[in-house]
Amino acid sequence: MILIVDDTPENIISLKKVLEHHNFEVDTASSGEEALKKVLKNEYVLIILDVQMPGMDGFEVAEAISGYSKAKETAIIFLSAVNTENKFITKGYSSGGLDYITKPVDMDILLLKVKTFYRIYEQSRKLIEIQKELLNEIEFRKQAERKKDEFISIASHELKTPLTSVKGYMQLLERNLERGDIATVKRHLDKAQIQMEKLNDLIADLLDISKIESGKLKFNKKFFDINVLLDSVIEIIHQSNPDFKILKKGTVEKEIYADEARIEQVVINFLTNAIKYSPGTNEVHINLEGLGENIYLGVRDFGIGIDKEMQKHVFDKFYRVEETAIRFQGLGIGLYISAEIIRRHSGEIGVKSQSGQGSEFYFKLPVNAGPEKE
Ligand code: ADP
Repeated sequence: MILIVDDTPENIISLKKVLEHHNFEVDTASSGEEALKKVLKNEYVLIILDVQMPGMDGFEVAEAISGYSKAKETAIIFLSAVNTENKFITKGYSSGGLDYITKPVDMDILLLKVKTFYRIYEQSRKLIEIQKELLNEIEFRKQAERKKDEFISIASHELKTPLTSVKGYMQLLERNLERGDIATVKRHLDKAQIQMEKLNDLIADLLDISKIESGKLKFNKKFFDINVLLDSVIEIIHQSNPDFKILKKGTVEKEIYADEARIEQVVINFLTNAIKYSPGTNEVHINLEGLGENIYLGVRDFGIGIDKEMQKHVFDKFYRVEETAIRFQGLGIGLYISAEIIRRHSGEIGVKSQSGQGSEFYFKLPVNAGPEKE
């Protein structure tokens, strides 16, 4: 918008008419004081400012405006009766563009100048926008870099823990072998085996992440009975958590068409989390249900639960609920991988939870989704 400031109404009327005729939006003020009020309230691309006015003259107005951060980009064209010297005009005003026109106003020249200022304004606005986008991009990359560094440090720590245990058991094995204590050797071998499994799972998760990133996570779908899968998963989980009761409720009659190993991975992830995040409890429920052409599978625990605010983030890569992250080991990638697996099966993954009241992590899967989504 353009602001015309002049104490002579006829000048204002004729200028306004011409500018409006050329599709410019125009506002007017008949004194310096009124102009200042308007500049504080509205945004102007350009102010056409009469120099000789009773009260505040044009230069004083320009000087005052130069102090407003709001008017930083605003250009000013002075209208003066005498041929004013450039250095006199620039007095007090240094931020926006500046120019002057002598009266009587040559409308063609004025229009040319107005158009030029508008073009400069548009260009500088675009530049500012690009600059903002660039700054956002830099901030985003910095944050991603920070997250990655953090992840590498946690991942190294997580990998080192089972590795150190295995190293310890190897030394014990050597000692007990020399002594011929076969029973203890067997016990340590079993423990080393469990740690090796942990290591294996961690590395498999890390590989999955890189497969997801590079679009190389592939599925091998066939028909299978989810009830059978659950029985075998319950047995596996029960072996490493003998104190936990895992109750399966409900069944699904139809076979489903999906990648069995990947669906098993999701269920194991839900179950190990359900146990890990439920200290002091000893029961987990698996709720299974057929819903027409879909199945519902939910893993319900009675553990620490998750605050509403955090629930929407738990499927994000590297996300761990901050308040509990120190108490429980983890990398924050299991649910991200699970979400990707379910998404690629055209299913839905989610959580129902309340802080302190436990959680139910679930997925809904079409019985036969056909080829997977990209
Ligand atoms: P990890 O358990 O290795 O941190 P996940 O991706 O499996 O990674 O889970 C992400 C986060 O979601 C966990 O760090 C935890 O804060 C939260 N979470 C997952 N499952 C549960 C659960 N059953 N109860 C409470 N919090 C959970």
